[in-house]
Amino acid sequence: METRDGFAGSVGNTPLIRIPLLSEATGCEILGKAEFLNPGGSVKDRAALWMVREHERSGALKPGGTVVEGTAGNTGIGLAHVCNERGYPCVIYMPDNQSQEKVDILKTLGAEVRVVPTVPYRDAMNYQKQAGRYAAELPNAVWANQFDNVANRLAHYESTGPEIWAQTDGALHAFTCSVGTGGTLAGVSRFLKERNPAIRIVLADPHGSALYNWVNTGEATMTPGPSITEGIGNSRVTDNLAGTEIDAAVQVTDQEMVAMVYALLRRQGWFFGSSTGINLCAAVRVAKQLGPGHTIVTVLTDTGQKYQSSLFNAAFLAERNLDPQAALVL
Ligand code: PMP
Repeated sequence: METRDGFAGSVGNTPLIRIPLLSEATGCEILGKAEFLNPGGSVKDRAALWMVREHERSGALKPGGTVVEGTAGNTGIGLAHVCNERGYPCVIYMPDNQSQEKVDILKTLGAEVRVVPTVPYRDAMNYQKQAGRYAAELPNAVWANQFDNVANRLAHYESTGPEIWAQTDGALHAFTCSVGTGGTLAGVSRFLKERNPAIRIVLADPHGSALYNWVNTGEATMTPGPSITEGIGNSRVTDNLAGTEIDAAVQVTDQEMVAMVYALLRRQGWFFGSSTGINLCAAVRVAKQLGPGHTIVTVLTDTGQKYQSSLFNAAFLAERNLDPQAALVL
């Protein structure tokens, strides 16, 4: 019998799941890395664990020290779990445009949550900058710094990438996913390109993000938004993302994403969040570009449970002219 050791030992080694509806419609194998099955419920458990370990290894984080982070939610959730297991208090700064569910989970897990006004990154009161300042002021504290701490990317270079390679026997043609910090895309991309440079890496972007333009023009200029997606899109190129070899970018609308998550809920039994919807739309787009017979891997980042008041709320969608009944066009 295979057992896993504790919370940290349960992070990663997630299944790679075939999505029949999308695979059969495209004639490709559309495979999703089931990151929602991590013990904290999202892809960010890996980054949380690697960043805490890196701060321990460097000596910056000593027993009983405080871990501070600015996070839209999932990184905070991962950090709260990891900190509980290792005995660190955890303080989370979060912008006030995030779902109440994520705030509630963080508090339940024991993190101290500081919800601050949503302001651009260049503003000194931006949630990430506030987290960094607080950690610098507090004795025996570290700022996890997921956007620019490359231990985040390393998590995916050392775990997610090798797992995908092993699970596909190296027989994949493309990998696509959306970017928040870029840790997932950059880490997986680096590992896969080292093994086989022909594997196509495609960045999936929601509207209201600068990364689609960055891939296409080299300039990180914003595209018109907004988007109801959470945890993805960025106005800048983080240290985690910088220098990553990316072959193309696709932009996915919120309506396409909504049609995808509802189709998978009703027809395939899955309950996914918005970034997974963007990722699966991008995987279908890449499959159509490559044609039948290809294997495309993407990331199933988290479940719909944290988005009951938004993505899975009929009134919320109607106010934004998003139709959950719209047909999924494949
Ligand atoms: N999906 C969800 C639900 C997330 O919380 C995040 C992290 N912000 C991402 C995708 C993006 O992952 P990464 O930070 O590795 O780019």
